[in-house]
Amino acid sequence: MNGFPLSRLPELMAAMAAVATVYCPLAGKFAPWTEGAVPELTGNTKLGPKDLFFPQVEDLVRFRVSGKDLEVLDTQLRQEPFVVFGVRACDCRALEILDRVFLTEPVDTFYQARRANGVVISLACQRPEETCFCGAFGIDGAEPGGDITAWQGEDTLFFRANTEKGQALLDRLPLQEAGEDGAEAAKAKTRAILQRLPLGNLSTQGFGQAENLLDLFNRPEWSELSASCLGCGACTFVCPTCQCYDIKEFDNGHEVCRYRCWDSCMYADFTLMSAGQPRPTQVERFRQRFMHKLQYFPANNGGIFGCVGCGRCLRQCPIHMNIVKVMKTLGGEDHAS
Ligand code: SF4
Ligand code: SF4
Repeated sequence: MNGFPLSRLPELMAAMAAVATVYCPLAGKFAPWTEGAVPELTGNTKLGPKDLFFPQVEDLVRFRVSGKDLEVLDTQLRQEPFVVFGVRACDCRALEILDRVFLTEPVDTFYQARRANGVVISLACQRPEETCFCGAFGIDGAEPGGDITAWQGEDTLFFRANTEKGQALLDRLPLQEAGEDGAEAAKAKTRAILQRLPLGNLSTQGFGQAENLLDLFNRPEWSELSASCLGCGACTFVCPTCQCYDIKEFDNGHEVCRYRCWDSCMYADFTLMSAGQPRPTQVERFRQRFMHKLQYFPANNGGIFGCVGCGRCLRQCPIHMNIVKVMKTLGGEDHAS
């Protein structure tokens, strides 16, 4: 275990920034650290670090068409190294979920390049919020993953490398040796708070088993649950595990840029095809979002749910509909077949 005095955090950030661009929590999202910026190390960010690995808008390829000739101009893989500091346990699990999607054959080389070049420094939660329920999915806010795990003690930041990439970065920072006691005390404080959270006992019972799929799909409650949904997509855009995207092209008259951008299964034109729309109303779209997170994804990924309990959708939905209400309505022992 290594340590660094919290009072000298700017010095540590500068040392990291000398190695690579550092992104950290600033104004509610992960933004590049520059001298004088003070990372927000207490709560969680409004937006997770997903955008750094799977950008909201990303050029895939540019090409020029001349008659029957097609000239490919570049493929723009991100190759420069970067560091993401302050990633919470829920967002670390979210990256593991995105890995399962984008790093499974056929591998998404754009995402792969960013994952290969990014070093994730997680930070154990200090003040989990009332909307947090990561524990329901087996995530421990006091022991986050990433390439390096950090804990905030009374006056010290503690670091432990989890991967070779993480150790290589720690070796380049001006850290001191530190015992285990400070980090253990920080963990104990966090776990004491996690145990008292109002959604701490949320149950996943009734979800994720293949034999429940049809029962869950056909439950009449989907109509009432989705009745007020505006289809605004806010829940999907703040979600660290949502990974739907669209691919479009823009022709500026000289060349064509093919890009991808986040999309949302809550939108009326998502899955719209020339043959028609297989999800014609908001009931089907709404059901798809939650069935994917609570049923399809775990059924295909060894029981790992597609939600990490970050609580962001609880805070952002304008009609206060969310995955917790869905789980409470449709889940539980009584509903399991
Ligand atoms: S569904 Fe909501 S609580 Fe779950 S990971 Fe997405 S934003 Fe977080
Ligand atoms: S944020 Fe709320 S209203 Fe908007 S699409 Fe999601 S569930 Fe529907």
